[in-house]
Amino acid sequence: MKTLPEHTIIISPVGDFENSLFEIVGRKVNGIFGFPTEVISLLSDVSFAYDHNRDQYNSTLILKMLSKNTLTKSLKILAVTKVDLFIPILTYVYGEAQLGGRAAIISTHRLEEALSPVKPEESFHSRVCKEAVHELGHAFNLRHCQDSSCIMHYCRGIQDVDKKSDQLCRYCRILLSDEIKKTKPI
Ligand SMILES: [Zn+2]
Ligand SMILES: [Zn+2]
Repeated sequence: MKTLPEHTIIISPVGDFENSLFEIVGRKVNGIFGFPTEVISLLSDVSFAYDHNRDQYNSTLILKMLSKNTLTKSLKILAVTKVDLFIPILTYVYGEAQLGGRAAIISTHRLEEALSPVKPEESFHSRVCKEAVHELGHAFNLRHCQDSSCIMHYCRGIQDVDKKSDQLCRYCRILLSDEIKKTKPI
């Protein structure tokens, strides 16, 4: 059976990444949201979002650009970049998404900080997966969750990211399945 692009979540690397990262992220995203994922690079360059004063990239501008992308009819687009992202009211962000919208972005820049010396790669992959699901969760209309173990919990630092689980809490799972029913009429 062919998957309709309207039901696909695109993972869009900006720049070079090890391919294995997207296999892991794709599997995780598919497991949580139930939609197939595809890796397609839709943006090769984000220099338009560079802020000289902050030496960082404005994630909101990148989201705007992504949501206008008409090359694909995909349900959601998750961009993954190595550059450091910000929104004007915060020093930095791990990612941003349009609430209930189509576009989301995460940065791996600060996810490489203080990696577990025992299994650094595993620890890095786990953080990237958590942030990918978190931002896509926002794109599926989920807001921040009070439950500190829920993947939709707001993280102020990398310890918070490591501490939370890689799953939605029961409450957020119900909200997500209601949202998906709206997206995917059976
Ligand atoms: Zn968030
Ligand atoms: Zn939750």
